[in-house]
Amino acid sequence: MLGNMMTEPLLISGILEHAIQNNSKTEIVSKRVEGDIHRYSILDAAKRSKQLANALVNLGVKEGDVLGTMAVNGYRHFELYFGISGIGAVLHTLNPRLFPEQIDFIVNHAEDKYLFIDLPFIPIIEAVAKNLKNVKGFIVLCDKENLPKDSKLENLMCYEELIKDESEEFDWPTFDENTASSLCYTSGTTGNPKGVLYSHRSTILHAWYSSAGNAMNLTSKSVVLPVVPMFHVNAWGVPYAASMLGCKLVFPGPFTDGESIYNLINDEGVNNLLGVPTVWLGLLNYLDEKDITLKNVNSVLVGGSAAPKSMIKDFQEKHNVFLLHGWGMTEMSPLGTLNQDTAEMDLMELDDRYELQTSQGRAIYGCQIKIVNDEGGTLPNDGKTFGRLMVKGPAIIERYYKSSESALENGWFDTGDVSTISPDGYMRIVDRSKDVIKSGGEWISSIDLENTALGCPGVLEACVVGVAHEKWDERPLLFVVKNSDECTKESVLEYLSDKVAKWWLPDDVIFIDELPHGATGKLLKTGLREDYKNHLITKGD
Ligand code: AMP
Repeated sequence: MLGNMMTEPLLISGILEHAIQNNSKTEIVSKRVEGDIHRYSILDAAKRSKQLANALVNLGVKEGDVLGTMAVNGYRHFELYFGISGIGAVLHTLNPRLFPEQIDFIVNHAEDKYLFIDLPFIPIIEAVAKNLKNVKGFIVLCDKENLPKDSKLENLMCYEELIKDESEEFDWPTFDENTASSLCYTSGTTGNPKGVLYSHRSTILHAWYSSAGNAMNLTSKSVVLPVVPMFHVNAWGVPYAASMLGCKLVFPGPFTDGESIYNLINDEGVNNLLGVPTVWLGLLNYLDEKDITLKNVNSVLVGGSAAPKSMIKDFQEKHNVFLLHGWGMTEMSPLGTLNQDTAEMDLMELDDRYELQTSQGRAIYGCQIKIVNDEGGTLPNDGKTFGRLMVKGPAIIERYYKSSESALENGWFDTGDVSTISPDGYMRIVDRSKDVIKSGGEWISSIDLENTALGCPGVLEACVVGVAHEKWDERPLLFVVKNSDECTKESVLEYLSDKVAKWWLPDDVIFIDELPHGATGKLLKTGLREDYKNHLITKGD
């Protein structure tokens, strides 16, 4: 027997309508690519999203058409989030840090009809424009006077001119909540990027459960600064969640260095921050340098890569902030687990608590997790056994865009991560399955080694890869970027010696000027692994 309740579809336009009625005065503040600050209310944002929706209809955009954006975090991008998805078209966010050949592959694969571009990214699009097969026009997110006169792009339009004469009224269409709303390609290190096509339903459910009481610490009093980019996994869904709750949003534009972030926090009263560890490293270094502390910040969410213990400790002891460690991936919208502050943690010795906080936390409602062996058999949640981490939930991918095959294994999605799960549900990422080091039949976690090495004085960044070894199959090599001459191979190995098992100690420590990072800021290990594959063999170790 079915229930008797309404089947009102979950649509992104509904968030905006809710905000108009309930939080219309809430501010949205943006540091613009032009360098100045823009400030308006969510009511203004909604009106302009509706002007955009009218403009899109006039351009002939239909339900299901895919429109690309290459833009930083800012108010115009926010309007695109709602205006494009609201009419039933698909918002395709493009990561400007991808290689040119990946960008034209993605734009062609997605069949983008129009591209919306922030001023600094015009050269990136100009460089690939001749290869773009379906793009009918390029719309620059700027005022008339800033529209470049000498661009090589054909059919170049100005966003402000496009929307300025349009009506601020628009009746959002109603359609199936499973309709596609946005598209984001994974920045895999091998092969072509793959598209993850979110639906209105998955987007709303994700925003809902990730902003529920005990999740991302968002409330109507939050002043949220998402440093996590709107061009990757919808900025972790924050533009939607914040608009549901009526949080003030502060967008940093392209300015994500420690000083700029600190100034925005201070000027706008930011209390909730979200971003990847490298951003927080930049902020912490800046605060150290200037000998200043954070005042009103009460939540910093870190994800995308593992949060090192030294960072968790610094936030707590220097700035009185509990670092909220989360894990997820593009294919999961992205949030899967969060390591929330709990009453149990209050009773723990600080060092034990920091150790627990380095785990990626417990599954949030909406995401089920389990670990399995190579044959798919479920492994115990004993906190020790490593396994392939599998996930299931209503905001998790079923198949990649345009793929004829399901991406699932017996109804679960294989995250490509290897993890443990403790008896009380704490999940700890051990490694990416391709990065884990298989030494003499045992597994060594490159992430654990990296994080431990980061605590060593003089180590600024660390990266561990497994390379071939005649006796043990693979052994770890540690690459270090240092900021002090006192940091030597001996000092690093000495530091590690009482913190990791003896057989985990790297076979060599190599100092380099810079580590390779991919388009989403993650360490790119493929090149190092290739360049150093014979490092231990030729040395005859
Ligand atoms: P992406 O799809 O680009 O967001 O990358 C997702 C991947 O980033 C995950 O599968 C993990 O390998 C990694 N990742 C995300 N968050 C964390 C975290 N807190 N700790 C360790 N790895 C993480």
